[in-house]
Amino acid sequence: MKRDILGVGIDDLTLDEAVESGISLLSQPGFHYVVTPNPEFILSAKNDEAFRGVLNGADLAVPDGVGVVYAAKLLGTPLKTKVPGIDFAQGILRHMAATGMSLFLLGAKPGVAEKAAENLTHTYPGLRICGVHDGYFKEDGPVVEEIKAAGPDVLFVCLGAPKQELWMAQNGTETGARLAIGLGGSLDVFAGTVERAPEKWQKMGMEWLYRLIKEPKRIGRMAKLPLILVDAVGARLRGK
Ligand code: UDP
Repeated sequence: MKRDILGVGIDDLTLDEAVESGISLLSQPGFHYVVTPNPEFILSAKNDEAFRGVLNGADLAVPDGVGVVYAAKLLGTPLKTKVPGIDFAQGILRHMAATGMSLFLLGAKPGVAEKAAENLTHTYPGLRICGVHDGYFKEDGPVVEEIKAAGPDVLFVCLGAPKQELWMAQNGTETGARLAIGLGGSLDVFAGTVERAPEKWQKMGMEWLYRLIKEPKRIGRMAKLPLILVDAVGARLRGK
């Protein structure tokens, strides 16, 4: 069931339920895409109708981070839990490895997707990586053709938001993949170029703080994130 979090529909699922739902999308004919909204997505979607439309058009939208869960609570429409995009991706990867499915990695700086592919093949024996492409290209057409020729079951699109969501909605069907997932900086994590917060920090809902300590230049981007809570309180008071 979807919850309306400040104009963006978010699925109220646990991680396991979200993975099950992703697997079920894979068994259905046609193209499907998954989005992983965090507070930054929801704040930008507020003033960006196209982005909002694409988020709401997704087959599955998981709450990536505690900020979305707090906002949901303040709105009076609580969500069960956060579902970090990268955890969701790992659940899908486990299923793909067990069933021998193929994956295409799109995004990040040149060389990163190759390294991520190498590490993922190691971690998930049975997973087939049928192609990679960096995320700094000018024209979509040749990239779409390359993906189509590779014939993946699943496509990870890691171009940052809102680029990756708009890209999936516009080009997804043409790629021939059955499932695309917008995963932000996940290829950097899979490649080992960016370190994820230790599990303790993740469990405490402090992954954002760890990331800020590691990448202090994100302070400008992150400083506005508490606004999602202000917006949620405002919306609740207005009775929305
Ligand atoms: N990126 C890309 N093409 C672009 C802009 C960004 O491939 O035109 C990549 C970037 O290299 C990084 C990812 O998109 O790997 C987005 O990272 P960001 O930290 O913004 O995402 P988050 O993890 O916050 O969702």
